[in-house]
Amino acid sequence: MKKALLTVAGFDPSSGAGLTLDLKVFRLLGFYGLAIPTSLTVQNSYRVYRQIPLSADLVLDFYRKLKIDFKIYGIKFGMMGSFRILPAVKKIIDENKKIPLVVDPVLQSSSGCWLFEEKHLKKFIKTIKGRISLLTPNLPESSLLTGEKISNIEQMKKAARKIFDLVEAPCLIKGGHLSGENHTTDILFDGQQFISIRKKKLPEDVHGSGCFLSSAILCYLVQGQDLITACQKASRLTGRKLRNPVKISKRALFQV
Ligand code: PLP
Repeated sequence: MKKALLTVAGFDPSSGAGLTLDLKVFRLLGFYGLAIPTSLTVQNSYRVYRQIPLSADLVLDFYRKLKIDFKIYGIKFGMMGSFRILPAVKKIIDENKKIPLVVDPVLQSSSGCWLFEEKHLKKFIKTIKGRISLLTPNLPESSLLTGEKISNIEQMKKAARKIFDLVEAPCLIKGGHLSGENHTTDILFDGQQFISIRKKKLPEDVHGSGCFLSSAILCYLVQGQDLITACQKASRLTGRKLRNPVKISKRALFQV
């Protein structure tokens, strides 16, 4: 029987990121995808022009109507758009403490558009603290969360521990923005050990890599993999897909 997963994330009309990409990843890995939009973005493959966050009431209404109909086995939270939807996110998290919950803290697009208010980061942290299975920040997001510059593996490890303490949950820092090397390394800190996940750096910048990875991790967790294996498998899958993107727009997109 197919299991349903839910993504609570931003709508990207290019389908290169956000909830429509998440749905494709869920399907690829054998799940039925449900999707609640948090915000409508006006964007194409290479630039976010603006975003219109939806209200907490609406997000919660979407959720309640799905919840009376579907059994949900795992939830991925992506772009939130605004601190205003956090009360809805908190309620959804509180009602689903026993299933895998993966949070991708989408704060700013690569083109520079803010996708969450920096000044409300503390509220974001408070909402997820101690309640989620994994947080998956990239380097700029990790810097914003810790207030520290991160440019090498040692600093990534320090940041991963700091973020673990802040959110009281495992943290996977994505090293895609590390400069200089032909490999990139993601660092997972699960509260006890650091796990390095090394992968080849690819020349192509593909839109939506963070969304793809966090959705794939959720799928593997719901399939019963432990956290380390789920991150490793999702990272390998993301790497394979990054090597073979669709090129029908200015910026490459995932082929799913
Ligand atoms: N739009 C949405 C809905 C997203 O979820 C994200 C990133 O996760 C972005 C835009 C930004 O994507 P990028 O940094 O690839 O431009």
